[in-house]
Amino acid sequence: MFDSIKKIFNANQDEETPLVYGDKPDISRKKSAELYEKAKQYFPGGVNSPVRAFKSVYGTPLFIEKGDGCRLWDADGNEFIDFCCSWGPLILGHNHPKIREKVIEVMQNGMSFGAPTALETELAELIVKNNQFVEKLRFTSSGTEAVMSAIRLARGVTKRDKILKFEGCYHGHTDALLVKAGSGLVTFGETSSAGIPKSFADETIVVSLNDEKAVKAAFKEFKDQIACVIIEPVPANNGLLLQEKEFLQFLRKICDDNCSLLIFDEVISGFRVGFEGAAGFYDIKPDIITYGKIIGGGLPVGAYGASSGIMSFISPDGGVYQAGTLSGNPVAMAAGIAQLSELAKAGFYKDLNAKTEEFTESIQRYASSKNYKFKVFQIGSIFWFAFTDQEKIQRAEDIDASSMEKFKIMHRELLNRGVYLGPSGYEVGFVSSAHSKIDLEKAKRAIFESLDIVFKNK
Ligand SMILES: *Cc1c(COP(=O)(O)O)cnc(C)c1O
Repeated sequence: MFDSIKKIFNANQDEETPLVYGDKPDISRKKSAELYEKAKQYFPGGVNSPVRAFKSVYGTPLFIEKGDGCRLWDADGNEFIDFCCSWGPLILGHNHPKIREKVIEVMQNGMSFGAPTALETELAELIVKNNQFVEKLRFTSSGTEAVMSAIRLARGVTKRDKILKFEGCYHGHTDALLVKAGSGLVTFGETSSAGIPKSFADETIVVSLNDEKAVKAAFKEFKDQIACVIIEPVPANNGLLLQEKEFLQFLRKICDDNCSLLIFDEVISGFRVGFEGAAGFYDIKPDIITYGKIIGGGLPVGAYGASSGIMSFISPDGGVYQAGTLSGNPVAMAAGIAQLSELAKAGFYKDLNAKTEEFTESIQRYASSKNYKFKVFQIGSIFWFAFTDQEKIQRAEDIDASSMEKFKIMHRELLNRGVYLGPSGYEVGFVSSAHSKIDLEKAKRAIFESLDIVFKNK
């Protein structure tokens, strides 16, 4: 039984994808391919996080040897302008000297103590003093952990069990949130991973993004049972599904009216669309905010924060237990302090966002001038390439899955032209402060050429 299931899985995964060549030879992946073969002996799929395995694009994963500024070098010596930026954390680019120096300085004194250090307070102070939406924080070691703890906190505060999430939002791999919509307006989720008890999924209600009617129906059907609504205020894990501000305001209100808590999962948007994240961008105060990615400057850090009142429910002050051996790790805190200190400087976001906008607008102008069915969605320094002619895409179900074939071609053509995007058309790209205007010009040229190839048989 098990073997036959495995066979089906492998048959799909190992299938040779036919190559559609553009006008450039494929980059050499000889060393990467060797390293991948070896890694497969030790890790499922050869990787430690599934999307890295290049299952949605051509070829084998590139093994990275070095990053500097906006550039990456792989094991075969290929050089790329990087728009993945480690999936978001590297808003200052790779190997930023200020972060590197601070990390090395702090490391001289040891790696971890399991006792408080002043560095934790320093990072917390930097955040709270520049962010009107949180008063107290707790550091964790990943975004997943931050979200998992925020959900527990919301349940602890409200003494309710159910949570409401949106189809197309990703909140890490915690059981309660690996749940997708079933059919119907308001549904209990179906688990989106094996290994999650159905009873867990039964506590998670899943509705469509940007759908007030569905949210209202859920609150009606599960009156006084919903502990919290959790949303990525800038949904950026399944395309970039920019929401109307009014929808987020509506969530704020319906949570207030029903004594439920509103959680903004800002693991991507936090310190990205501005120092105060999406809460600041939209000027909406959630009850709990989660952070990750940028907050650790490239090292593993997550955090959740709220008012002092709500945070007083967390142990040892309150009854909601949450802990971590390496939470607030001094080396990771050092990286976070160095990175956020740069972000807190006047004009940082204005410059970065303007640079990104110029970049995405000129790509859009090019695609439109050629009548390509292609749209660049952008907010702050996040962008998403979508092969669509829809003006807005605000719900997961509005993404055309068949368009991902075009992304696949684009991805390979871009690698062949020295531009690295995350290996899936559902992933967004990031511009960092290390991307100079010249780098962006170079990348643009590669993007134009790649689009021409994608659409050449149109
Ligand atoms: C990346 C991400 C997570 C998970 O964070 P990890 O550090 O990968 O565990 C959770 N929520 C959102 C919105 C994310 O983008």
